[in-house]
Amino acid sequence: MILLLVQYGHPALRRKGARIETITPAIEKLIQDMFETMHDAAGVGLAAQQIGEALQLTVIDVRPAKDRPSTLELHCQPADVAAIMPLVLINPQITPYGEPVSGSEGCLSFPEIYGDITRPESVSVIATNAKGERFEFKAGGLLARAVQHEYDHLQGILFI
Ligand code: ZN
Repeated sequence: MILLLVQYGHPALRRKGARIETITPAIEKLIQDMFETMHDAAGVGLAAQQIGEALQLTVIDVRPAKDRPSTLELHCQPADVAAIMPLVLINPQITPYGEPVSGSEGCLSFPEIYGDITRPESVSVIATNAKGERFEFKAGGLLARAVQHEYDHLQGILFI
């Protein structure tokens, strides 16, 4: 089911997401609907706040952005980014690292607004997946940027 994307000004966008302790059927359905909504809107990431739910939950899929490469490290080894796509991050903790790099960012909550945002080029992530399992990875490129952008949403922070 495609969900309504809330736009700038909606209070949910400014709310810090609540932790998810149990993957209930309602959360599973929400994850599925968030992927449908994100793909329908041609986005590479969507946070729960953007569909009006203040939860520590975001979905990411960078595969459609073929002109903006990403890198991935799993278990300290370089890995194919597609191996973890589509990506569900529940209660993520992130540690950005590396040189700050500038890159273009858009947001499904701000249609047709793009800006160059400077962020560290890499990020280390610990999160829970859709099965309730903890997992870790390191990302660079577009995936690192998307993770940092979506993490900000989960804290109620917007890219403007
Ligand atoms: Zn956004």
